Amino acid sequence: ILSAGAIATPQLLMLSSIGPRDQLEEHGIPVVSDLPGVGSNLQDHPVSGLIVSAPPEAVEKLSARLDSSGLNGVAFTKSRKDKERDDRAGVDSGPDLELVFLSRLDPLGNPVKAFVHDFQGKFPQLHTNPWLQPVRDLLHKTGQFLVTSVVEGKAKGAIGVVCEFNHPGEKSRGSVRLRSGNVRDHPLIDDALLRDEEDVDCMLEAIKLIRQILLSPSMRKWVGTVEINGLANSVEELAAASDEALRAYILRASGTTWHYSCTARMGDPADPDVVCDPHLRVKGVQGLRVADASVMPFVVSGNTNASSMMIGDKCAELVLRDHGLEDAGARKSCGGGGCKKCVKEAPEAPEAPEAPE
Ligand SMILES: Cc1cc2nc3c(=O)[nH]c(=O)nc-3n(C[C@H](O)[C@H](O)[C@H](O)COP(=O)(O)OP(=O)(O)OC[C@H]3O[C@@H](n4cnc5c(N)ncnc54)[C@H](O)[C@@H]3O)c2cc1C
Repeated sequence: ILSAGAIATPQLLMLSSIGPRDQLEEHGIPVVSDLPGVGSNLQDHPVSGLIVSAPPEAVEKLSARLDSSGLNGVAFTKSRKDKERDDRAGVDSGPDLELVFLSRLDPLGNPVKAFVHDFQGKFPQLHTNPWLQPVRDLLHKTGQFLVTSVVEGKAKGAIGVVCEFNHPGEKSRGSVRLRSGNVRDHPLIDDALLRDEEDVDCMLEAIKLIRQILLSPSMRKWVGTVEINGLANSVEELAAASDEALRAYILRASGTTWHYSCTARMGDPADPDVVCDPHLRVKGVQGLRVADASVMPFVVSGNTNASSMMIGDKCAELVLRDHGLEDAGARKSCGGGGCKKCVKEAPEAPEAPEAPE
């Protein structure tokens, strides 16, 4: 069972002779299963937003009330452009915009340093695990995004709203390709974030909505200095920024949410671009399954961690079923008290005592 994540899984498949014939041959790797879909279809959720300095009195007042975790509230909504897309396709795909209100209100600190420090502290593996180098490379984008939004050393607190765009379009499909036949060489990643013009239209709607929220009467009092590099150096400039300026800002100041997925997608085995069948088995080889975010046919329209865990859980169930052990699996995954079988076998519950008058 291969479960190395949507970047390393396609790399390992290709190094193991499973992948697009032309790419394998280019690197002198013999072909066992010619699967053109391995490493294609990379999807992610781009993020952009507006972050402004909070005035000193806001830092004092709000820091007592808001946890500076970086995430104080989430709201989902749907852009007009995404609704148009749905209408064209005859589907209802739900909200595409996930707005996250965040604050960094450390009366002693500096918001940019706080953001960077969090990455150092919370995700130590990101800095030490050699397999995560591609992720570190992509992280730089987000670092730049935060630095463009808040000028270091000038404020003690920042508030903002960022938007995760959850319905990347057809043209925003990237790829993971082999750099060489050496397992120690990092793969070549094309994240294709916001390459689809319509995705930028959706994000533009999001940024305008965020601007409206930040400049609304109830939020305006928490907005201090506005210094959004290349976009606005005052509240007035932010309010007046044209669509063209906002589009340019989005393309410059967007980053990844690390929701890489779909690079070994499952589906109908007759489809040449499908890598795994619906039982997660890799086409053309025996005894190999993929169980991670790579198998998603398209990225889920929310954060990817829970879905990835469910893929792992489903994989365990499929393996147990292959070996005629589904009862053991059911018992194990419900902890012995929740599945249909356990409930059936459980002793009858004693009658409830009569309720007092
Ligand atoms: C900084 C960051 C923040 C995130 N925040 C959120 C969030 O808030 N909410 C959310 O839902 N999702 C979040 N995600 C995304 C979420 O973590 C992923 O979608 C999820 O972990 C994907 O699971 P996976 O099993 O596909 O891959 P992973 O969890 O990446 O697991 C793959 C594992 O394989 C290992 N591996 C790779 N290559 C090899 C090899 N050759 N040999 C041995 N081991 C190898 C890796 O070290 C890793 O442990 C975040 C991701 C990152 C990086």
